[in-house]
Amino acid sequence: MLDLARIRAFLFDMDGVLYRGKQILPGVREIIELLDQRGISYACITNNATKTQEQYGKKLAAMGLSIPATHVITSAMVTGHYLRANYPRGTTAYVVGMDGLHYALFGDGHFVYTEQRPDLVVQSADFELTYAKLRIACLGIRAGARYIVTNPDRSFPSEEGLTPGSGAITAALQAAADVEPFIVGKPQPTMFRVAMELINGTPETTLVIGDRLDTDVAGAHAAGMYGALVLTGVSTREHLTGSPRQPDAVFDDLTRLIAALNDA
Ligand SMILES: [Mg+2]
Repeated sequence: MLDLARIRAFLFDMDGVLYRGKQILPGVREIIELLDQRGISYACITNNATKTQEQYGKKLAAMGLSIPATHVITSAMVTGHYLRANYPRGTTAYVVGMDGLHYALFGDGHFVYTEQRPDLVVQSADFELTYAKLRIACLGIRAGARYIVTNPDRSFPSEEGLTPGSGAITAALQAAADVEPFIVGKPQPTMFRVAMELINGTPETTLVIGDRLDTDVAGAHAAGMYGALVLTGVSTREHLTGSPRQPDAVFDDLTRLIAALNDA
C-alpha cells in the first residue's frame, strides 16, 4: 500500500501533469516548493528526445516554471546512461536524431560517431530525417549493429495536429531492416529505473505521477515503483472504471496531491 509519508523521490510526467499545451496546471509551483522544503528529490521525465536538458529548462522557464534544467530527464539522457552502463568507451554509434540525442551520446566522448559499420544504431524523432539517414541506419543494423530507440511514441502533438514521432521512424526502419529495436522510453521500465537512479531513489520509496494509465502508471509498476494518476491529462475516471490496471492513488490535480502530502 502506498504510504505518502515514506516517499522520498518523485518522478513527474510533464505534459498533462505540469502543463497542458502552454498552460501551467494548478499546484505545480506549490508542489515543487513543498518538495524542495522537505528535501525530497524529484525529476520531470519526458519521452521527448529531441531537446537537450538545457533546451527543456528554457522551455519551462518560458512558461513561467522555475524548475532547474538539471531536474529534467529526457529519454535521450536515459538512453545515454543506459548505453554507457552497457558499452565500453569507444563503442561506435550512428544516430538518427536531433541535438538531445547527439549530446547524450557524444557530449562526453564515451561513444564515437560513425556512419560505417557502427556497433549501435540509436534512433529518436528526427525533424530533419532524410532517406540518406534511413539508408545508413538500415545498412548498419543489417550489418549487425544493435538497434536502440529512445521512445516509442508514433506521433507528436504540434499546433497543426499530430505529426510523425520517433515510433513512425522506427516503423520505417523496422520495415527496412527487419529487426525489433530495444526501446528505452515510457512505458518501458528502463526509463523509470534509470531516472530513479539519477535522483538516487529506490523503487519502494519512489512515486511516479502521471496522467496516463497505459504509459505512466503501467511503466512505474513494471519498474517496481508506485504510480499515481492525476486527472489533468489523458486518463479519466471513466478509464479507471473497469481497467485491469489501477494506480496506487488518484488525484484530481496536483493541489490534491499537496493536500494528501500535508496530511501524510
Ligand atoms: Mg503526460
